[in-house]
Amino acid sequence: MLTKTPTVLAAEVIGLHKSFGSLRVLDGVNFNVEEGEVVAIIGPSGSGKSTFIRCLNLLETPSGGSLSINGRNVWGEGRGPSRQELQALRRDVGMVFQSFNLFPTHTALENVSLAQIHALGRGKKEADARSFELLAKVGLAERTDHKPAQLSGGQQQRVAIARALALDPKMLLFDEPTSAIDPELRVEVLRVMRDVAATGVTMLVVTHEMQFAERVADRVVFFADGQIVEQGTPRQIFHAPQHQRTQQFLSAVL
Ligand code: ADP
Ligand code: MG
Repeated sequence: MLTKTPTVLAAEVIGLHKSFGSLRVLDGVNFNVEEGEVVAIIGPSGSGKSTFIRCLNLLETPSGGSLSINGRNVWGEGRGPSRQELQALRRDVGMVFQSFNLFPTHTALENVSLAQIHALGRGKKEADARSFELLAKVGLAERTDHKPAQLSGGQQQRVAIARALALDPKMLLFDEPTSAIDPELRVEVLRVMRDVAATGVTMLVVTHEMQFAERVADRVVFFADGQIVEQGTPRQIFHAPQHQRTQQFLSAVL
């Protein structure tokens, strides 16, 4: 008899709510991601996209609902993880921010190595070897001893991606990773992200890069007013959106 391998959920989100004071930002989000899936999250500014992905590694504290990562409940019934569980979560779920967030006084190599030494307890030699390898992979073999200020935005973001990969994450969250980068430098970052996607790591990407979403994502999620309004394959969302809200958004950005 054929037994179907059970699908592993990288993230399972049920009824997620988040308010800042009286401002309701996430209004009951239900969302699953399978291991290895690449999901693009699109939607108008202020719709809660950043808040949503920040909740996934508990950079924001949910106001309600439940959240499981890799089959482990990390938030539910108003209760969060222990310190140890939070550390494990931050290791398993990497994040790449719009603003790069590199340490300005450290070189590219040090930026990629430090997290490995602190979070994984790797020795410096091993960490540096891995950093060299990853920086070469993102096209920065010649820039390992440069500090962030000596790098372009596109190069800094590639360092940030190498740093996130250095922890061997199960899932990577990207929040508008190319929005702060000059248009002509974005293509290199997007190429690196496409390479990362091809390695099979689970990716959630908040993005305004509709071409990237269409070509690289397995699934596109349209967010508006703190809710998932519609989701589907890139073909469904970009070529046959069902909801008026999605149609309006796409006609404004495409
Ligand atoms: P998006 O990423 O889709 O542009 P955000 O998640 O950043 O949306 O923001 C959604 C709403 O939540 C916005 O109205 C924003 O001003 C508000 N918001 C986000 N973070 C905070 C915060 N830390 N404190 C108060 N309001 C916030
Ligand atoms: Mg945002």
